[in-house]
Order: sequence, then structure tokens, then C-alpha cells
Amino acid sequence: MSAALTAPVAYRITPSRPAAHLFKLLCRIAAPDPAGQRLSLPAWIPGSYMVREFARNIVSLTARADGQALALTQLDKASWQVAPAPAGSVLELEYEVYAWDLSVRTAHLDQNHGFFNGTSVFLAVGGQTAAPCLVELCPPEGEVEGEWQVATALPRAEGEAGCAAPFGFGLYRAADYDELVDHPVEMGAFTRATFTAHGVPHHVILTGRHDCDLERLCADLKPVCEWQIGLFGQPAPMREYYFLTMVVGDGYGGLEHRASTALLTSRKALPWKGMEGTPEDYRGFLGLCSHEYFHSWNVKRIKPAAFVPYDLSRENYTRLLWAFEGFTSYYDDLALLRSGRIATADYLEILGKTITGVLRGPGRLRQSVAASSFEAWTKYYRQDENAPNAIVSYYTKGSLVALCLDLKLRKKGSSLDAVMGALWQRHGQTGVGVPEDGIFAIARELGGKPVAEWLRAAVEGCEDLPLEALLKDFGIAWDAKPVAETPWLGVKTAAGEGGVRLAQVLDGGPALAAGLSAGDVVIAVGGLRASGDGLDAFLARRQAGDKLEIHAFRRDELKRFEVVLAPAPDTQITLSLHAARGATLERRKAWLEG
Ligand code: ZN
Repeated sequence: MSAALTAPVAYRITPSRPAAHLFKLLCRIAAPDPAGQRLSLPAWIPGSYMVREFARNIVSLTARADGQALALTQLDKASWQVAPAPAGSVLELEYEVYAWDLSVRTAHLDQNHGFFNGTSVFLAVGGQTAAPCLVELCPPEGEVEGEWQVATALPRAEGEAGCAAPFGFGLYRAADYDELVDHPVEMGAFTRATFTAHGVPHHVILTGRHDCDLERLCADLKPVCEWQIGLFGQPAPMREYYFLTMVVGDGYGGLEHRASTALLTSRKALPWKGMEGTPEDYRGFLGLCSHEYFHSWNVKRIKPAAFVPYDLSRENYTRLLWAFEGFTSYYDDLALLRSGRIATADYLEILGKTITGVLRGPGRLRQSVAASSFEAWTKYYRQDENAPNAIVSYYTKGSLVALCLDLKLRKKGSSLDAVMGALWQRHGQTGVGVPEDGIFAIARELGGKPVAEWLRAAVEGCEDLPLEALLKDFGIAWDAKPVAETPWLGVKTAAGEGGVRLAQVLDGGPALAAGLSAGDVVIAVGGLRASGDGLDAFLARRQAGDKLEIHAFRRDELKRFEVVLAPAPDTQITLSLHAARGATLERRKAWLEG
């Protein structure tokens, strides 16, 4: 790897033992700290706000210079210090990383493919994270399936001997550590297709068995990407873009990066040859692609000031995820509508489901979206059985805040599109982070003081949003129906040993009022055995107000409860177009058609 010495820091990564899920790494530092070099691995990956302690997957680590082993001292759970290297010598670290997490957040390696985020594999070199680096991606050692190629938005090291060919193994480069860890790498015998959106090549990479109609997928993604580029203005901020997609039987996930996204999808969510229309699962996959792509602007370039720069060693707190995730969640489906991929009726169906979901969570009355953002590290990302009672999602409620803000601004002659434009010009293009009150200030400029004050109260408070009234002003009818004809217990169930386990018990529901708890295993209802099928059958012939005797185990103790059934709450929201005329019709067209 002599060529790699042209950079201050160089890495080499090899899928060395695919069957054992081990990557082998070499890190070469041309001018190590003479007092002893420090090294560390991030504790979290931007976009996924949870401390994950990636260093726990380093299974061996050694250091040497001039052929001599150097002592290593571990300083804490994620950092090390190497004994001073002889003057003028190159420091080399060799280590192995265990990669067996099938998610978009870490790394995964077997005989079928290798995938990694830089945060899981590349040690940060203390004092040199601003320096350019080279990365040599090496082909697998040992048995693998098929002819492996490489897909990554990491730029190829043009001009270097050993520069990778397109989609090939070899040398790549990054301007600094921040860029190095923002380009995940996929390697394997994947399928790929390319389309251009406003002149920028976009690559769709599919790993795993599938029968995807790539032509259809590209034909749908292109207008979505072009619509988003158009919203922020040409040129697009990336030279090329990669949708790195892992196809599995059952899975869902996405993580945004500056010029790519890592996606995990179920096989059935992909389009197939001869598929008619846009089935719901595929609509969901397009929405996921649209969501991650929108992040190319909103959070990867327009960032909260708290993320400029990221501190990857610990939690980075911001109260603004309702804007970065919520606005993105609003635009992901809206982009499908405005680019003609889904019909207005589909869009209203999706919106109705989001509203229904938010209104069903008692936690929305306890936690604001600003607090949910701040506490994401310990609450949203670490949900337990009490989550629905204690937490509101800054994604879903945040998207409804975006909707209300958009409609309020439109009534004042502006729009959320104009907010995004201002954010892009002031923060995205300049690299200046958005201060914690930055969105309120822009809302005030574009919509006036009352809109800004409403926004602050909406994101800092727990009141339900004025959706029904606002949507009516845009010619949208709001219909609230009972979830079911039968009464309600206020529980979510799961199969349990010998009965039905209560996975969640909602605050305000009859089960909690009777004393039942999450974790209880219901074994009989009204004197009849409860089995794994859930409790719905016991409710079907009952009325609100009926009493029901429930026997349940709490741990190994049998308990008896008397539940008074209540009507299911009115939270099934359905939206539809109503006959609108004049200004209302004009407003609706401008909103839905953009
Ligand atoms: Zn997101």
C-alpha cells in the first residue's frame, strides 16, 4: 500500500474472514503524534441518535512502527493511546472488526456481501481528523458467492496509482474524517441500475435475492429526485448519488448520508415486471427513498448548530429534530404526490393514517416534539412498554407540525417551501448551523409574529394541532370514526406462554384502570381460556359498560381483574376532497400541486 503514503492517514480494509464476519483493517499514520498517538472509534452514527458503542466490535488491535511492536493503552471504552513511535517512522495499526448487524447503522459481512459504515470500522486519528485520507478497499479473502464489486459514494482516488476502477476495488479518498465516515460501502455481487436526475448520475444498488423491476424503480425515482432538486434549486449538491439497498424477507430501515443512503427493505416492497399501479408496500419503499434523499439537504447540509461539528464521542443534543425529521417526513410523501408518483387520494390516505397514529398515542399529551427531539437518545431510540404513554414521535407529529405550518404560511402568501429555501440559502449553502430558535425566526419573517408564536407553542407544548380547521380551509374534509364497533380494552397484545401477553397498556384505557400491566399474561376472560389469538374475540359480542372478569399471571402469581369496557376512542381519521370553489380551491391546488 505504498501509494497510500501520499496521504497523512491511510486505511486498508479487507473482508478477511467473511464466514466469521471479520473485516481486517490497517491504518497508517505518516506523522504520528510524537507524544504518543491517540485513536478512537465513534460512539454513534449521525442520523441515528443513540449511543451504540461501535468500539465493542473491535476484537483485536496492535500497533507497530519500523517493524517494532508498540505498547497500546486503552483509555476508555472507545479510545486508545500508542506509545511514542521512533522519530520519522510511520505508525501502523492492525485490527479486526466483527460485522454481523443486519441494519443500516453498523456493518455486516458474510459470504454474500460486505457492508460497512465508516463509523464502525475507521479509527479516528487524534489531531488529524481534518487531514485528507486514502482508503484501499480490498477484495475478499476466502470463499464468497459471485463476483464482488464495490458501490460507494466515496470518491475514487483519481491520479493515484491503484485508483479503483468504477465499481471496483482499489483506492478511494476522503477530504477528512467527517467525509470518510459519511460514505457507507457495499461490496458483493449486487445488481445495479443508473438514472440521471438533472444531470446527476443516481445508482440503485440491490443486494440480496430479488425480482425487482429496476426499470420501473428508476422511472419512479427519477421524477422524485428531480422534484426535490428543483425545490432547493439546481445544481444538486452531490456529484453522484447511491441508493445502497439490502433486500431481505422482512425488514425496513434507512439512513441518510451526503451522497448516498443505506436502505433495508422487504423483497415484497420492490416493484416487479408486470406489476400494476403502485401497491401500498411499494409506495412505502418509494416514500423511504424520498425521505432519505430529502435529508441530502435537510440535516446533511442544513444542520442544527449542535451538529456543527458532530461530537461522535457522546450525545449531541438539539431540540430541533421535529424540523429535521418531521419536515423530512412531511416532504417524503408530498414529493411522491407533487412528482406524480401517487394520486391525491393516496396522499390523503397516508396523511389520514399519520394523523390517526399520532392521535392514538397518550404520550402526545405528556411530551412535546421539542422535548422528544432532545431526549431522542434515551427515549425515542430506546422505547420500552411504556413508550406510547410517555413519548411522542418527532417524525410523525413533526410532520403534522410541518403540515400546519405550511398551511398557515400559505394563508399568508408564503409556504414551507419558502422556509426550506431560506434554510438552504442561509445554512445549507454556507455550512452555518441552524440555531435552536432559527426556524421560529424564519417563520416570523415569512408568516409574521402570530405564525411564529403558534409554531413555538406547537413544538414546545403538548396540545393537539389545529389540523381539522386548517385542512377545511384547504378544501379537505375530515371524518372521525370509531376505530371499531366493539368496545376497547386499551392494550396491545403479543403471544405469550400459556396465554396472551400484554405488550403495552395504554394510559386512559379500561385495562389500566382495572389494574392490568404490561407484561401480564392473560389466561382467561369471562371464565374462558385466552389463547395466542389475542383478546378481540372476547370483545366482539360486548358493549361499552359491560364488566369482564380477567385472570392473568403477573410473574408466577395469578391475579383476578374486573374490567369495565369502554367505547373505542374516536381516532380513525379519514381525509377526502370536498367540493371547494374560489380561493379555497386555488389554495388547495397550490398546496397539493406545488
Ligand atoms: Zn429521517
